[in-house]
Amino acid sequence: VVAVAAEEMAALVERLGQVGAQPGGGIVRPVYGPAWVKARDTLAQMMTEAGLDVRVDPVGNVYGRLAGRAGGPVLLTGSHFDTVPFGGAYDGALGVLAGIAALRALRTQAGTPARTVEVVALCEEEGSRFHANFLGTRAIWGQITREDLEELRDHDGVTAAQAMAEAGGDPERLEEARRDDIASFLELHIEQGAKLERRGVDIGVVTGIVGLTQLEVEVTGRADHAGTTAMGDRSDALLAAAEVALAVEAAARDHADPAVGTVGWLQAHPGAANVVAGSARLSVDLRHPEAEKLQALVDDVTERAHSVVAPRGCSAQVTLAKHAPPHPMDEALRARLHQTATRLGYSAMDIPSGAGHDSQTMARFAPTAMLFVPSRDGRSHSPAEYTDPEAAAKGATVLATVLHDLAEG
Ligand SMILES: [Zn+2]
Repeated sequence: VVAVAAEEMAALVERLGQVGAQPGGGIVRPVYGPAWVKARDTLAQMMTEAGLDVRVDPVGNVYGRLAGRAGGPVLLTGSHFDTVPFGGAYDGALGVLAGIAALRALRTQAGTPARTVEVVALCEEEGSRFHANFLGTRAIWGQITREDLEELRDHDGVTAAQAMAEAGGDPERLEEARRDDIASFLELHIEQGAKLERRGVDIGVVTGIVGLTQLEVEVTGRADHAGTTAMGDRSDALLAAAEVALAVEAAARDHADPAVGTVGWLQAHPGAANVVAGSARLSVDLRHPEAEKLQALVDDVTERAHSVVAPRGCSAQVTLAKHAPPHPMDEALRARLHQTATRLGYSAMDIPSGAGHDSQTMARFAPTAMLFVPSRDGRSHSPAEYTDPEAAAKGATVLATVLHDLAEG
């Protein structure tokens, strides 16, 4: 067992949480801004204090390295250190800090490992400044180009390339951020939901990151006078669209947890108080961690959309707006996380991730797994984010122990 103490996790969270903290609460640390630069330097300092060799790549990913006796491909852990506007101190940050604590514990409790272990603080994941999630991981795997960095602009018109350069990075050396020596990736992250807390479970072993399909439904009815058209004579597109929204909820419930379905946007035309809506459009967002089950949900919702509008004299056209397949996590690493948690006397359960994470990019190129620790009240992307230091330390201890086993095995 390679143990991380709760006090260490609490101190690290407290220290990084001050960077970008707003007077009224919440943390604002968009990529390449002044607070982000300060966080990058704080993390580099923390890694140095943990006895790791530190380097920052041209896009701003910060690495702390514990060189192994045998060399070879690297066992990597970490997460992102940017935040959403007025986010909390745990999303992303906790995975970076747990990685630093885990590597410090490895170095001081187990000595030089056989294989090299590294922690990475990834520069960007949230997409809150540029519409480019996963900048850090995409740079590592060559999934972003110099042109992309010129095209991406923030609200003030600053390009990602300019912002990167101003923060001390170098878009010209983008290629140097690439890695081809990563043996596996492990990411600790807060759950951002309430399943672990509700069940009193210590560790969530992520089965996969959910797939997402977004549909756009266009409902066509007939616009009529709101005063002169009897109720029985209407083909009200807005009410038919409302039926579709309720059908999405019913379908997601019928397909059962972890299936989820959301209608977050609806627009009626012509959109006047005294006109029966002639047409309406709505968004449908459907998610499931298993590809076949996601497709079954999509098919079911499509069928229901057509059948619920018909009795109202309307028709529906369903088009695919967006699709991202599920990203299953590596089975061998998942089994190791379960075994290690059990060995340490912690409870663990399988859990899908409903949110996107750096691990989904990593999983395309290297064996990858994630572990979740409980989020109080399931809160995230909010100043209310909180994970008990004891709970964080359990996660970091599992992480450290698994890294140790992998490094020696
Ligand atoms: Zn995150």
